[in-house]
Amino acid sequence: MDKEMNQAGSLLPACTVCGRPLIPDEIAMTRKMINRGARQFLCLTCLSRRFDVPEDVLREKIEEFREMGCTLFL
Ligand SMILES: [Zn+2]
Repeated sequence: MDKEMNQAGSLLPACTVCGRPLIPDEIAMTRKMINRGARQFLCLTCLSRRFDVPEDVLREKIEEFREMGCTLFL
């Protein structure tokens, strides 16, 4: 029972750096910043460290991409 619940809860991958569960926007942002075929994903905090971009700026970018109709952010 518990095992099934865990599996259901792990449909989304975790950050490969810090292990935090990711939200779809973070997965989309990894694809955008690294490449579309990325199989390992980073949370916004780790993306911001890796690319030396403030987390707030990444959040704004997510909104921008969504407004532009980027298919990664639907
Ligand atoms: Zn992380």
